[in-house]
Amino acid sequence: MPIYSFQKGVGVESIPLQVHPYAKKMMTARKYVPLWYFLPDAVTKAKDRSKDSLVGSHTVRASPNAIPDSRLSWPQVMRAKSAFLNTLRLGAWPDDHISMFAAFYINMDMHSELQEQDGDQVMAHYHAEMRLAWYDAMERKEPFDLSVISNRVLAESRREIVKQRQEKTLKDIQAATALMEARVDAKLQKLSQITSTPPFPSPRQSSGKARQTPYPSTSPRKASRQPDNPNFQRSFRDLNQAPLTRCHRCLGRDRHDVRHCSRTSLWNRKRGVTCKWNKQGFLEITSGTNAGLELCADWQRRNGCTSKAHPEKHRCSGCTSSSHGASSCPEGE
Ligand SMILES: [Zn+2]
Ligand SMILES: [Zn+2]
Ligand SMILES: [Zn+2]
Repeated sequence: MPIYSFQKGVGVESIPLQVHPYAKKMMTARKYVPLWYFLPDAVTKAKDRSKDSLVGSHTVRASPNAIPDSRLSWPQVMRAKSAFLNTLRLGAWPDDHISMFAAFYINMDMHSELQEQDGDQVMAHYHAEMRLAWYDAMERKEPFDLSVISNRVLAESRREIVKQRQEKTLKDIQAATALMEARVDAKLQKLSQITSTPPFPSPRQSSGKARQTPYPSTSPRKASRQPDNPNFQRSFRDLNQAPLTRCHRCLGRDRHDVRHCSRTSLWNRKRGVTCKWNKQGFLEITSGTNAGLELCADWQRRNGCTSKAHPEKHRCSGCTSSSHGASSCPEGE
């Protein structure tokens, strides 16, 4: 690179501006352009894109990443304002207009509103409303002095920000409440598994229909993978330490496969069992007047069954009595 001489004492007035091509186009036409285009981010993005292709003209279109003024933060407004003010000269605005815009930013930045709670957000909102309003008024050929702070618009901006904040607080509270309820539900579900059900996972809800729940035939390992029962693995371990639940068929509490109990007599061998497993996985009475009757599985559990849809199925699978379920059968262990 050859050495060029410079004249001593003559500096550069400002670093030649890097402006987003779309902003350049709009500013030259004296049209409204979102302040986002004057943020360093927007300029960098436009430069990256024009490097990709030899023809940079496609960047003259509006950027899909552009953010409306109403969503800029106050620090972003302050960061973008200098580039905006410097670019005004592209539109060959008279000096009056350029100083009015400069005073617009200075007067906002000096305003006492910024010391208030959420003052930043209020001022960013005010900026967005006023700048757009000024360009609108200009198009209607009735411009006003933008540098004069409008207390009415400022008060409206404050009301809007307070409203947004209240809505957000309400949403946060609702989300926190929902989370808490979900946790309580999970705890209750775990508790009820430990205290009331036989040592297998709570049966899956059958889709929609209020059908009684069968005895699950899946192994515990497989059942633990069911997405609707993530706590099962843990509760199953807890249950192994708890007293064993009574078998609904032989009424015994000793360790055996209660889902497929194949004993022919009760746990104490006092008499034969009264039920067998049917193909649907339910216990079914094998003899007497109710032979062939499939029994309600929930009815046998400690919590019982609240359904009124099948009163005939509410009989003990240990002794066929309709006064109780297997969990409270007097003949049980
Ligand atoms: Zn049994
Ligand atoms: Zn029932
Ligand atoms: Zn009974």
